[in-house]
Amino acid sequence: MILKLNTKRAFGSFFFHQVIVGDRLLLMNSSLLCDSIRVAIGLALALGFTQSLAKEQLNFVIIFTDDQGYGDMSCNGHPTIHTPHLDRMAFEGQKWTQFYSSAPVCTSSRAALMTGRLPVRSGMASSKRVVLFPDSAGGLPQSEITIAEVLKGVGYKTAMVGKWHMGHLPRHLPTTQGFDSYYGIPYSNDMDRDPFVKGNWVMIGKTSPWSIYKVPLLQNEKEIERPVNQKTITRRYTQQAVKFIKNNKEKPFFLYLAHSMPHIPLYSSKKFEGKSLNGIYGDVIEEIDWSVGQVLNTLRKQKLHRKTIVLFTSDNGPWEVFETHGGSAGLLRGAKGGTREGGMREPAIFWGPGNVKPGVIREMGSTLDVLPTFASLSGAESPSDRAIDGYDLSGVLLNRGKSPRKEMYFFGGAQLSAVRSGSYKAQFREEYGINPKPLDKPELYHLGEDPSEKYDLAAEHPEIVERLAKLGEKLQASVKPVPDQLVPRIAN
Ligand code: MG
Repeated sequence: MILKLNTKRAFGSFFFHQVIVGDRLLLMNSSLLCDSIRVAIGLALALGFTQSLAKEQLNFVIIFTDDQGYGDMSCNGHPTIHTPHLDRMAFEGQKWTQFYSSAPVCTSSRAALMTGRLPVRSGMASSKRVVLFPDSAGGLPQSEITIAEVLKGVGYKTAMVGKWHMGHLPRHLPTTQGFDSYYGIPYSNDMDRDPFVKGNWVMIGKTSPWSIYKVPLLQNEKEIERPVNQKTITRRYTQQAVKFIKNNKEKPFFLYLAHSMPHIPLYSSKKFEGKSLNGIYGDVIEEIDWSVGQVLNTLRKQKLHRKTIVLFTSDNGPWEVFETHGGSAGLLRGAKGGTREGGMREPAIFWGPGNVKPGVIREMGSTLDVLPTFASLSGAESPSDRAIDGYDLSGVLLNRGKSPRKEMYFFGGAQLSAVRSGSYKAQFREEYGINPKPLDKPELYHLGEDPSEKYDLAAEHPEIVERLAKLGEKLQASVKPVPDQLVPRIAN
């Protein structure tokens, strides 16, 4: 920056100028000075522009699906599900190929997303019950700090639309956890089933009408429909999301849009019924894809796309016991409920034209990283009074730098089942469920060369197994015991 300018006649008829730039004195002739001033003005303008961009707070949208598998997008190789909006989102943004949920089931996974903390730290993972149910009295403790609370602290308007599943009693609803408004169902869409409907669990899930699930639809804390009409739920969530964006275009906002689908039982609106080559599961994903298009197009039309970052991802792997009503983890091994890659690795796209540098990211990331990343991008602070398990990924989003995440811990219920460090993953326990049993011998996979976890390298590299076991022990030693939120039941 030019601080001082003195003009001097010297060397006969030539004019020289003393230019003090910072702490340096320079002598320049007139033409050089003109060029320098042009450069300086350009730099000043650029700096001012950058500062004004930096000052303008980005909006954040999380689109979270339920039980969608890693392979369930055409841009991740699905041959019969058509997802043009997700494909465009991936093309314009960053598609992450090694992005993890923090748990292979709903409640725990969502608690981790909201807090940036492993769910065992908040009591939202259990060895006694898999998730929260309609008879549960627990939920995400008020002592936890959510992304919504972090962003609200720096002036954001916040909304949650969709499935919550972190406690359905009034004291646990989204409006008590930093969200200004809520529209959605408080737990899974297969809960509250009519007790008179008996029979094979999988067949019921695949063939019954939505009216047998007495799931409520809430607006803030008030029940507005029961049972919720699940055929129109994706469309109605989308309308709510679009309305929120339009109503808040003048201020920074955070929208958490958590679709109830494609968790079984599956329903789509009429417009999508029978349209997909993939059957009802494909219809449901294609309606979600339409919804993604609606959200991104709204941002474009409202001229918010250059100041908004959208993350699309899923809570856990596909529910394969439901056969064609469950999705696909692609080439990954395992599914929902387990800590093999298919249960934990998710489809993931970050989008933000002008901010998110496009590309395919093969670095590691996790839903645990969302809170620190959004905090960093918004100028907010991540909580510093507790263990945070997430990393700030903004350097990867903005500049395609290296991810700070080098390790990942995989919990089945409250038990540590596997540890990944770099490309190696050691598996110590076997699933399915909340009490994974120890394997006879630990297994070791190189996820770069063997993403499908087929070829056990434990016998070849016992020293790596030992190193990963030590990392796991260290992590477990850092977890302080807290009350299990999934166990308490509502008193009858
Ligand atoms: Mg789920």
